[in-house]
Amino acid sequence: MSFLEYAPAPESKAVLNLKDSYGLFIDGEFVDGSGASFATISPADESHIAEIASANEQDIDRAVAAARRAYDKTWSKMSGRDRGKYLFRIARLVQERARELAVAESLDNGKPIKESRDVDVPLVASWFFYYAGWADKLDYAGLGANPRALGVAGQIIPWNFPLLMLAWKLAPALAAGNTVVLKPAETTPLTALIFAEILQQADLPAGVVNIVTGAGASGAALVRHPDVDKVAFTGSTGVGRDIARAVAGTDKKVTLELGGKAANIVFDDAPIDQAIEGIVNGIFFNQGHVCCAGSRLLVQESIHDEVIDRLKNRLSTLRLGDPLDKNTDIGAINSAAQLARIRELSDIGEAEGAERWTADCAIPDKGFWFAPTIFTGVEASHRIARDEVFGPVLSVLTFRTPAEAIAKANNTPYGLSAGIWSEKGSRILAVADRLRAGVIWANTFNRFDPSSPFGGYKESGYGREGGRQGLTAYLKGASA
Ligand code: NAD
Repeated sequence: MSFLEYAPAPESKAVLNLKDSYGLFIDGEFVDGSGASFATISPADESHIAEIASANEQDIDRAVAAARRAYDKTWSKMSGRDRGKYLFRIARLVQERARELAVAESLDNGKPIKESRDVDVPLVASWFFYYAGWADKLDYAGLGANPRALGVAGQIIPWNFPLLMLAWKLAPALAAGNTVVLKPAETTPLTALIFAEILQQADLPAGVVNIVTGAGASGAALVRHPDVDKVAFTGSTGVGRDIARAVAGTDKKVTLELGGKAANIVFDDAPIDQAIEGIVNGIFFNQGHVCCAGSRLLVQESIHDEVIDRLKNRLSTLRLGDPLDKNTDIGAINSAAQLARIRELSDIGEAEGAERWTADCAIPDKGFWFAPTIFTGVEASHRIARDEVFGPVLSVLTFRTPAEAIAKANNTPYGLSAGIWSEKGSRILAVADRLRAGVIWANTFNRFDPSSPFGGYKESGYGREGGRQGLTAYLKGASA
């Protein structure tokens, strides 16, 4: 080891108390699934973590029936104040078991422990604390005359922020008085199942939350179940379309949080050092597996070369490797399938004529890895400028005037997020006003807060999560 290299600082797995296999969590207990079980593995070294049950249509039916009973007999009869107490209890238990949850998340998902420990898990607790506070105030929140729960919610979440997406879904649904059947993604079921243990520890009445694991077919059965009143989905635009078709013509309510291709716009008067950090955070946080990632850098032509040089220098200092090591900046890609997609789109980027640069870092022998990559000379028509790569790949485009920046930023089928870097407040406001994106950050990126609504336009979906607005999605007769 040379002088100034970092010594390994792995977080211990001893804090985990994993079972060899996990069943479905239905009506307050773990039960066997009827489908063929599957393994969840660590994407960092492909080692086996646990065997996971798979829910078929009968299991989904059982889970929905449990949620309906819990809704009719307990949850809908309980005062908002009492529902809030359960949510506060869950939030505190998440904090108590934070270390265990962070280690499990990094193990199953591949994200660096410093992110799961300092971002994901604290945000999970804050989401439950925030919505716990709303549970007894629904009548006074300006959401309509008599806001009431919808009933049973079927919720489906992706693998990029497994526990955080669970919190975004469960906390508002429960605060509003709904019961839930939730399906985690098939590559990252672990923390949802540990969370089920937390629900038992919190003495949450049986059936209020049911967690059913399995692949897309389990999700499709949940969406189509006739006794589900509300479908909440976060995932890809393709599956979102399928869900929209499946619920069309029914009286189910639906919210869709889908993909993105955000523009991160850097003007020539931007504070460059902060902008470089913001660009890195925007696209390399969580290996770029972020729906609102700043995957298109729009940089003003006059500072292009300086920004790219500094960016390359900064990326050369990032450490890629063991997700459980506290020094790691870039963890593993979540699955072999996702790695194949990132490789394919990157190869297409090169073939279409963009210039590829990859940070020089050692790639571990086992597991799924992709080094931070930048494409310069990208044209708006290139696939890497249009398709969501969902990986650590940045496409760089240039602009000369604010009008050109706005036109290029909006030239996408998506509309989830955007970033603006400039010293000039009036420019930030004027540009933000004309960007078609649900969330716009100024001189920062990828900031999340439970009180702030989040959601998209166009093919990024519809409905908002977070804030008071996030409650309306789970209430009858409510408008934000
Ligand atoms: P995905 O759509 O493949 O899967 C998401 C979930 O849907 C998984 O649980 C999966 O099992 C389930 N599913 C698959 N087919 C289904 C079907 N036919 N019916 C019902 N459920 C089905 O997405 P992914 O690859 O897991 O996640 C990545 C995508 O999620 C990206 O496009 C990303 O942008 C998006 N995302 C969006 C947000 C947001 O808030 N807008 C947040 C995180 C991720």
